[in-house]
Amino acid sequence: MVIVKNSSYEYKELRTNVFEILSRLDDNLIKEGSKVIIKPNLLTASRQDKAITTHPLVIKAVTEYVIAKGGRPQISDSPPMGSFDKIINVCGLKDALHGMPVTIREFKTSKPVQTEGKFKNIELSTDVLEADVIINLPKLKTHSQMGLTLAVKNLFGCVIGIKKPQWHYRVGENKNLFAELLVTIYKILSPSINLMDGILAMEGDGPGTGGTPRHIGVLIGSNDALSMDMLVCEMLGIKPLSIPINKIADKMGLAKDFTVSGKVPAVKDFIMPSSTDLLFGPKFAHKLLRRHLTSKPVNIKNACKLCNECVKMCPAEALKNQGKHLEFDYERCIRCYCCLEICPHAALKKQEPFLKKTLERFWDLRYR
Ligand code: SF4
Ligand code: SF4
Repeated sequence: MVIVKNSSYEYKELRTNVFEILSRLDDNLIKEGSKVIIKPNLLTASRQDKAITTHPLVIKAVTEYVIAKGGRPQISDSPPMGSFDKIINVCGLKDALHGMPVTIREFKTSKPVQTEGKFKNIELSTDVLEADVIINLPKLKTHSQMGLTLAVKNLFGCVIGIKKPQWHYRVGENKNLFAELLVTIYKILSPSINLMDGILAMEGDGPGTGGTPRHIGVLIGSNDALSMDMLVCEMLGIKPLSIPINKIADKMGLAKDFTVSGKVPAVKDFIMPSSTDLLFGPKFAHKLLRRHLTSKPVNIKNACKLCNECVKMCPAEALKNQGKHLEFDYERCIRCYCCLEICPHAALKKQEPFLKKTLERFWDLRYR
């Protein structure tokens, strides 16, 4: 079942809604003394009104619920870049949880999990693997590479620090392979409770500063992250299987029928990121196709502060700080758009090649 509730961030209303959803999903999962990992989206140090991170009051209400049930809450994430302390300060989480008996800390250690299929073993956060209960708290956002970042994608934060760009590099620009990795992580962790902050969501070129906040006004809960993601697509007027994660999960036989409780708003004209996946055909042709058919990251004029965050993050070492400007090596670039994701100054955008734009007029490469 997927539960949808209209809500604002007004705390009394929000807390009531969060408690109602969680009590319907909890089914005695959280017991006295249970170690409960609360996994929000804490991507970068940004204010709540930018819609980049899960709203601190949503996290607070969930924490209060866990404490009320006798659980031991720990709020954690592993941001791809930057200081965890700075993120929880800037997004308001530290203030929101001040004085509450809760541990807030970055995921620091991981251990390998053997998997069937392509990936053999994946190192995931020890805290998460040892938790009695995982509460997944994604933010409803667009994602330049994967279309949307919702509940299944949010679990990639359980891969620690530098391992994230390493995975990006290993899977390269193959979105379906990256989706398979994400779905494999979802299968391993299978969070028992998922609650999505879709009150102030993000459209456009998310999930970082390139996206645009959009009020939708919903909280969505489910015991099944994938069903939740499928419903969100329907709500946004997007074909669920146009999103690589959903498509791969469906192929792997993980998609289930689900019922919906509550009124699902019809979100009109939700702006998705421009499509990027035009790599096909034999491998030797990829270089040419990439040049003419995939969007590339470029600087927005005069916006780059040369802070080097993207240079440090780039998994393909395709970025260089040349002192006065940033240089892109597009032959090396794997179009993962991690640089757009983490740039704190909204200084990067995707530029679509002319041929791609032309072809898109004839082919249905979009999400609807
Ligand atoms: S593009 Fe953004 S992240 Fe990269 S150096 Fe410039 S300001 Fe920093
Ligand atoms: S330049 Fe940006 S899009 Fe290209 S590989 Fe590096 S991080 Fe990814």
